[in-house]
Amino acid sequence: MGRILCVANQKGGVGKTTTAINLAAGFARAGKRTLLIDLDPQCNATSGLGQQPTARHALVQRNPLHESVLPTPYEGLSLLPGSRSFQDVDALAKSNDSQADAIRLHLAGELEGYDFVLIDSPPSLGGLTQTALAASTEVLMPIQCEYFAMEGLTQMINVIRSVMKKHPGRLEFGGILLTMYDASLELTREVDAEVRDFFGEVVFDTVIPRDVAVAEAPSHGQAVMDYAPRSRGARAYIELCLEILAHE
Ligand code: ADP
Ligand code: MG
Repeated sequence: MGRILCVANQKGGVGKTTTAINLAAGFARAGKRTLLIDLDPQCNATSGLGQQPTARHALVQRNPLHESVLPTPYEGLSLLPGSRSFQDVDALAKSNDSQADAIRLHLAGELEGYDFVLIDSPPSLGGLTQTALAASTEVLMPIQCEYFAMEGLTQMINVIRSVMKKHPGRLEFGGILLTMYDASLELTREVDAEVRDFFGEVVFDTVIPRDVAVAEAPSHGQAVMDYAPRSRGARAYIELCLEILAHE
């Protein structure tokens, strides 16, 4: 089976959805059979690829995924759309261990045939995110280069550790990604130094610059490498894909 990358951080607005979409599109362009799973009730990954949310989430229903998986403008990239249904969100967010396990196993059994699965998770550390983590082989944490960047990271890492304990030998730290990077700001450089000092090797070499093209791309239903192929944002996300592929 392929690699399952959960993009997680309980803070909103740090670049989770943006990273999930652009990595998924980048892997597909590299010839990898890729699935993007939208687990955020806000369904931004779904609309960012020009699709509509579904009434009920396929994972909650535990229906065969292929019945709900949609094609995207990218050859090799499929999307399991998100659902805004409160029932679904509740069912997953409050899911107990056995429910989460059932979903995890269901997902594992359905992912044959994909090289990469990206899971876009909601801005919380609740059941939804924990289920996503338990189903994943790697967790990727985007953090924004701002003053409170490190705050909450310990909490997040504790949740990851507890998932690792429950499912030994499966989930790994994929890496911390610095997003909305502006090298001209002293604050960005300080956060960069502090995060690398503290977390060392776990931090990706690639940083994602603050770039308006990255923010505009979803409103055109595109990944940034298609919306603005020469932009700094596009180049950074391609570099990040290569860095992740090199870990294989
Ligand atoms: P999250 O999923 O963590 O809530 P998003 O990916 O939705 O975060 O990003 C939050 C906002 O910041 C969005 O409006 C997005 O377009 C914008 N954004 C994300 N990454 C960048 C970037 N590198 N440069 C500029 N804007 C960005
Ligand atoms: Mg999001």
